[in-house]
Amino acid sequence: MAEERRDQRGVRDARDGAQDVGESWGRSARPEEAEAWEALVATARRTVSDGLVVGTSGNVSVRVGDTVLVTPSGVPYDRLTPDDVTGVDLTGAQVLGALVPTSELPMHLAVYRATDAGAVVHTHAVHATAVSTLVPELPLIHYMAAALGGPVRVAPYATYGTAELAENMLQALTDRTACLLQNHGTIAYGTTLDQAYDRTAQLEWMSHLWLKASAVPGLSPTLLSEGQVAEVGERLRGYGQRG
Ligand SMILES: [Zn+2]
Repeated sequence: MAEERRDQRGVRDARDGAQDVGESWGRSARPEEAEAWEALVATARRTVSDGLVVGTSGNVSVRVGDTVLVTPSGVPYDRLTPDDVTGVDLTGAQVLGALVPTSELPMHLAVYRATDAGAVVHTHAVHATAVSTLVPELPLIHYMAAALGGPVRVAPYATYGTAELAENMLQALTDRTACLLQNHGTIAYGTTLDQAYDRTAQLEWMSHLWLKASAVPGLSPTLLSEGQVAEVGERLRGYGQRG
């Protein structure tokens, strides 16, 4: 496994130095995959331009049938081209492209295996990550927690890229579409890239809100009850807007 990784990195490094993309393996991208890749790259760039990700510290994936397209490891999003389509199957075996998939692939695949997710966004957004170091669950500071399925849990810390982290994350995602990862960041999924992105942005915003309200000396914020948030959940479902 380590050997294979090194070989793949070699290909990537060669590409960085020259224009040569190196040998792609597997098949070529189907039209719907090429289209999904474009949307994935746009979403990844948006996480950076909106301040949710610094450099290449996040990753984005989208599912097309049994193929998961995913941002490659260590390549700045503004340098990703249509030729860089990177895809794996649900076991993690690479079926598209020559770039190394993100090291956080186990988390992405765990979400696709356990849910009906169509897209996953992972970031190290600063306010959400700050909250992950303070509490086991984001306090109910705003009713928009209902759009994520209820109170957002913090998955216990484990080293990035490990099966243990993926397992902790899945537990925290029970009946939720987003969670925090302790001392690490956020993960959110949705039917579409836009929905997974919006949930990530909501989570970062709510985290920021709680930190702001909690920082006022001598006062502590009023919190909502789980019942109040559940009522909003019903209302959102009634409008057919789960996100
Ligand atoms: Zn990460």
